[in-house]
Amino acid sequence: MTMPESQAVTAAEDMIPLTTLEQSVESGCHNSSEQYEAAQAAGKSETLEQYAKDYPQGPHDQPQSMCPAFGSLRVGLRMRRTATVLSGSACCVYGLTFTSHFYGAKRTVGYVPFDSETLVTGKLFEDIRDATHDLADPDKYDAIVVINLCVPTASGVPLDLLPKAINGVRVIGIDVPGFGVPTHAEAKDILAAAMLRYARSEAEQGPVARPASADINSDKPSVALLGEIFPVDAITINGLLQPLGASAGPVVPTREWRELYAALNCDLVAALHPHYTASQREFSKAGRATIGSAPVGVEGTVRWLEQVAEHLNLNKETLSKHCDELRNSISAVIADHPINARITLSGYEGSELLVARLLIECGADVPYVGTACASTPWSAEDRAWLEARGVEIRFRASLEDDVSAIDFLKPDLAIGTTPVVQHAKEHHIPGLYFTNLISARPLMGPAGAGSLAGIVNGAIENKHRFETMEAFFEGVGKNDSAGIWTPEIARTAGLLTPKEAV
Ligand code: SF4
Repeated sequence: MTMPESQAVTAAEDMIPLTTLEQSVESGCHNSSEQYEAAQAAGKSETLEQYAKDYPQGPHDQPQSMCPAFGSLRVGLRMRRTATVLSGSACCVYGLTFTSHFYGAKRTVGYVPFDSETLVTGKLFEDIRDATHDLADPDKYDAIVVINLCVPTASGVPLDLLPKAINGVRVIGIDVPGFGVPTHAEAKDILAAAMLRYARSEAEQGPVARPASADINSDKPSVALLGEIFPVDAITINGLLQPLGASAGPVVPTREWRELYAALNCDLVAALHPHYTASQREFSKAGRATIGSAPVGVEGTVRWLEQVAEHLNLNKETLSKHCDELRNSISAVIADHPINARITLSGYEGSELLVARLLIECGADVPYVGTACASTPWSAEDRAWLEARGVEIRFRASLEDDVSAIDFLKPDLAIGTTPVVQHAKEHHIPGLYFTNLISARPLMGPAGAGSLAGIVNGAIENKHRFETMEAFFEGVGKNDSAGIWTPEIARTAGLLTPKEAV
């Protein structure tokens, strides 16, 4: 693909100003070194050290995003026959249940409350154990997930001492504190990995149940899909693999327990989202190789299929013919759905680099990509592809990084998290919320190629509305035009009302 000239951001003066850690907003519950130290002292050192290796921090320590435990909660709530129980402060649990139901969970979230006495005496652990016994009905559940939030983790509530199974219902306890897990995306990995570990140990002990959804007659090599993707993408990927004599396996995090066995039984793992480090480790222990990137756009799709074919030793001639056809079909879709705009992109889902690749192939100028996730070996290929096209990538980007990029680059459209989009709109720049509007649509193969243009171009065409709104509301809510200035308030504030001033 030929790069548009405007995209080459190479000169030093074109670099986006770096925010420093001190400049970042280090407030809120995600930033507690005291709790981190308390958890270490309470016996959680090993867990926290593993998290630090799997999800390295810096340059920005913690994202300014939602509670990380939401990721694990979401994975549990999306699984059939799985009960999910939170142990933590009531305010945290309120926020997490609110968010999970906002995002469409139709399940009850279990909660084991505590007070300072039950926390200090160890009674909280007994309460959690009793709750798991009460819940462990094999007619209803395959698994119970218990999630320690910040306070129980800092207090060392030992979920590893829970029974491994009750009445045949598996019990999985995980610590997901905001002070040890940087993003909710990575918290998805924590639970997915814990489940894979459990399922792997079951498979090692003897035959396990066949997944209800498995294609029992398939002798094709299969590829497990690692990352929470849009459902159509799994179908598209299967369609890309079938002509090569391969098939797509389950998506991990899975929707039912038995799919974990099928995923572990796949011949190859595709880390479509690159931050699933602990899950990848479980696959590696099961002897499965992992490839990075994903089939996005023309180049991404062809390169991804080449990697799959190489690992699965698929027929080269068939591959070459299939790739030629895909080059034509995806190029045609892209030609019909061009994007001619400068776009800054940021998010905390872990798929930001893939979206940027697709936008660029559609013709967009994407000078900046910020992701709250860390760089991993499975993001290396996308990173190299983007950097070769002049894109500045910030891993563990802070809100200030993303906002600086907007201010400096003045894009036609800002795709980002809620506060990033808010900042853009305040400056009459159209904005799209990454999580709800971008990551909730297909990205892969021919189906993904045309999916972004509609929403992106539609948002950009609305720029005049933001200009009208800005002109209309100019100055409202700022300085002395903020709030209600009654004569009494003005006097209390030491100000004269306009009438008094006359
Ligand atoms: S569990 Fe921790 S990170 Fe999550 S809302 Fe509560 S204090 Fe914040």
